[in-house]
Amino acid sequence: MQQWQLGEARITAVVEQALSMDGLIYKAKPDVLADIAWLSPHYVDADGSLLGLVQCFVVELDGKLTVIDTCVGDHKDLPSDPAWHQKAFGLLEKFKAAGFDPASVDLVLCTHLHLDHVGINTRLEDGRWVPTFPNARYLFARDEYEYWKAEAEQEPVDPKTLEKPFDRYRAGFQATQRMVHQQSVEPVVAAGLAELVDTHNEQECEPLPGITLVPTHGHTPGHVSVEIASGGAKALITGDSFHHPCQIARAEWATVADHDREASTATRQRVLRELAGTDTLMLGTHFAEPSGGTIARDGDSYRLKT
Ligand SMILES: [Zn+2]
Repeated sequence: MQQWQLGEARITAVVEQALSMDGLIYKAKPDVLADIAWLSPHYVDADGSLLGLVQCFVVELDGKLTVIDTCVGDHKDLPSDPAWHQKAFGLLEKFKAAGFDPASVDLVLCTHLHLDHVGINTRLEDGRWVPTFPNARYLFARDEYEYWKAEAEQEPVDPKTLEKPFDRYRAGFQATQRMVHQQSVEPVVAAGLAELVDTHNEQECEPLPGITLVPTHGHTPGHVSVEIASGGAKALITGDSFHHPCQIARAEWATVADHDREASTATRQRVLRELAGTDTLMLGTHFAEPSGGTIARDGDSYRLKT
């Protein structure tokens, strides 16, 4: 199990499942990946495939327990992703096996509201979706929540009626996201546990001392990263502003899942500029192990130093 100690803060990664990222980043083909030697063997395998994880980070600081991103979850309706649709990955059991009690969680943060970041926000109880962490505050960025709520209220489009493959993919994904909103987000709101926070105009928010939401828009409209600071040490949990470490070397490589590719690229460039040469630990939510490192300059670009 990966753990990092930062001052008084302890961060633990609880892994839900391995994730292949082939096809997610158009430009990340084996021949060009081979030019970025430091990616092997941890992040790119011998065949040039992109390796990754679905995992959540748990932060223990000042007696408070914070969970950041809650993965795919169990028994969720995710029809556009057959590998995840109505499956069970047992993340909650792994969370408990790591020594954490769901009833003791104080704060749940979602970097964004995509299907693989909100899964165990809720669990199924007698056929109803109920919050998994009954004593926690769940914080959602207001821009992010309102975007997906509006999407969920729109009339669904049948992907089969669309001609272009990309339009069909988008329509299928939106249909899944509507269900994600209904099963993993709205039940938290209905239970009165959700708080919406304003993060637009680069506004930061510190829900607990040492835990700050930092706007990193682009992948989704209200995407945030989470900074952990204690005793002069810092970490930045980057969510999906970086899907894969190859985007540290090539910040302009947006993913097919990025809502606004120019904005996501600008965000990656900004984060890399700010972290380069500092002791701040970057923790990549989908990065294979080792999932954390510092950022160093590498010629005209950057690399992850683990
Ligand atoms: Zn993701």
